[in-house]
Amino acid sequence: DSRLKELDPEMYAIIEHEKRRQAEGLELIASENFTSAAVMEAVGSCLTNKYSEGLPGKRYYGGNVYIDQSERLCQKRALEAFHLDPEVWGVNVQPLSGSPANFAVYTALLQPHDRIMGLDLPHGGHLSHGFMTPKRRVSATSVYFESMPYRLDEETGYVDYTTLERTASLFRPKLLIAGASAYPRDFEYPRMRKIADSVGAFLMMDMAHISGLVAARVVDDPFAFCDVVTTTTHKSLRGPRGGMIFFKKGMVLGVDLETAINNAVFPGLQGGPHNHTIGGLAVCLKQAATQEFKIYQQQVVANCQALAKRLLGLGYTLVSGGSDNHLVLVDLRPLGIDGARVEKVLDLASITLNKNSVPGDKSAVVPGGIRVGTPALTTRGFKEGDFVTVANFINDGVQIAIEAKGLLESPKVKDYLDYVESPAFPLK
Ligand code: PLP
Repeated sequence: DSRLKELDPEMYAIIEHEKRRQAEGLELIASENFTSAAVMEAVGSCLTNKYSEGLPGKRYYGGNVYIDQSERLCQKRALEAFHLDPEVWGVNVQPLSGSPANFAVYTALLQPHDRIMGLDLPHGGHLSHGFMTPKRRVSATSVYFESMPYRLDEETGYVDYTTLERTASLFRPKLLIAGASAYPRDFEYPRMRKIADSVGAFLMMDMAHISGLVAARVVDDPFAFCDVVTTTTHKSLRGPRGGMIFFKKGMVLGVDLETAINNAVFPGLQGGPHNHTIGGLAVCLKQAATQEFKIYQQQVVANCQALAKRLLGLGYTLVSGGSDNHLVLVDLRPLGIDGARVEKVLDLASITLNKNSVPGDKSAVVPGGIRVGTPALTTRGFKEGDFVTVANFINDGVQIAIEAKGLLESPKVKDYLDYVESPAFPLK
């Protein structure tokens, strides 16, 4: 009795296939999770029908009495979930996702062509932190602002704070960005605060990957040191796809953060908020304040430790030698294989993870590593012993990928991938 099935069997079938893929495979992408049925119900509700430009109580459209209630509830729960005093911190829950949240912050705090420093993408940072190549300003952030990325110490795999400090003293950024997409360690917030203060910069943390871990207090707290904290809501936090911006109330470096950030989101960058997402996010944040959620996040970290330990036991090299959070970054280069080939072989076995560059990589197209995360499978009830099995499966895939590479003897990834897809591939 599905209305979708009746009206649009084609789309219904696609969704059913994706549902099965998610249920039957092993989901190891560090930025993904399975949100709850309650969140999905709110996201699929009538809240999607309403326009509500503006903030609660100050809308440009009528009929927003319940939308106001929903957004206020979401804001209140967001502050509670992250243990924030509403006198000191405020939050905007309208950003459509992580990248728009970050861009809204930049336009709120900076003038065009002001200088920023974030972690370089090949070293684990996110595109929206200002990625550019020698040839091209890839991210809009690097088009409209002047970006000087900082990097990891390639020996240790940790952020090279000493070089960051020296570079910041010369480059003098107006905004320093902590946070990453593929960094298995905590950021040293007190050190970054000191560097930001030494040059008169704002300090922002993009906690997108680890926001669930932050809410559960199983990693260090960025709020104690940062002026602004952004996040997506669909990764470790396990909510709907969206974004949030937390800001210190009051003046910071001559800017009223609350006014500047709220205006940057709307009318600066966005129009009507996605009220169905905000409703789903409110549900997610209620869940995030529970003891059950804390236990889940503790398990995410314990599972990651078990995964890291087994991979190390199997002889793998991990960037930084291990993990403090929900992901490991495996450097495959000592094995003479790359992340693209391994990702492909594991995909055929319904094990989903992603190729990832590792410090020192020569090519971004054929990166030397894979990123493996534990949030999604932990939601499915996996414990430490299960992650030992997962590590063994990954190892099997890597061995097959190496073997197949030898059989094909092609230096080109495309030839290899074609071969893996062909009937000649030993797994077929
Ligand atoms: N920030 C970080 C650290 C991320 O890892 C990501 C996405 O992976 C984003 C921001 C961007 O989020 P979105 O894909 O929702 O724009």
